[in-house]
Amino acid sequence: MTTPHTPPAAGEVFAAVDIGGTKIAAALVDAGGTVQWRGRVATPRTGGEDVLAAVVRLLDEVGDAPVRALGVGAPGVIDPGTGRVASATEVLPGWAGTPVRDALAERTGLPVAVVNDVRAMAYGEARAGAGAGYHRVLHVSVGTGVGGALTTGGRLEHGAHGTAGEMAHLLVPERGPVPCGCGRRDHLEAVVSGPAIAAAGDVPHAGAVLGRALAGLLAVLDPDAVVVGGGVAQSGAPFLDAVAAAFRAEALPPLRATPIVPARLGTDAPLVGAALLAMSAQGSRR
Ligand SMILES: [Zn+2]
Repeated sequence: MTTPHTPPAAGEVFAAVDIGGTKIAAALVDAGGTVQWRGRVATPRTGGEDVLAAVVRLLDEVGDAPVRALGVGAPGVIDPGTGRVASATEVLPGWAGTPVRDALAERTGLPVAVVNDVRAMAYGEARAGAGAGYHRVLHVSVGTGVGGALTTGGRLEHGAHGTAGEMAHLLVPERGPVPCGCGRRDHLEAVVSGPAIAAAGDVPHAGAVLGRALAGLLAVLDPDAVVVGGGVAQSGAPFLDAVAAAFRAEALPPLRATPIVPARLGTDAPLVGAALLAMSAQGSRR
């Protein structure tokens, strides 16, 4: 086993795991953010303990690769201090309370960093994807839900409660066709998420609502770039064009030129992000 207090040596890699509601993806990623190996397995629906066991079995497949640390992207709110699942929806039954960091550290012998999956995706894009080269990057994820995260100077901002950059619960001036994850109908997620768009059938309108919300949000956060990812964003130009047009029509003049760019790492983003977070955690201990 490698020691955790020296810089990455040539050939050293970081393991990454992306735990989803239907599958667990794993990868080996080098220090430059390049994926060198991928694996996947179906997610057990029988509780957190079985999910962790499946993760360990999947990681066993990497054999004797010189793995330096493990990064995990997982659903739910992750306590940044303990790496435990503070709360989670029913996307993964029995997931809340699972001690992801400590349990996986014990079973793999590796230093482990755990972060919410959307935040892992955001970090991957900010460091090695569409946001690379920008100092402060706001990530917006539009898929089954709406998520967000802020990376500044190569560091993911957690905030006091692990929600910095989260934008699902911004108030919007209308009632969405589906409830936000929190239950309300007048939140951004209730209007802009994939299920909301499917129910209302109006992609340009949803894009415009997001664009207007971003106009206000960028006045608060003032990032150098906005990266838009997630399943809805990947669906293409009609959505992203509507986001950009509404944003530029509403934003304060100094903010209008802020680049709004599509994510480019696809499903690798949370894996790359988790691996780079694990690497960053190692670096901060040196
Ligand atoms: Zn909400």
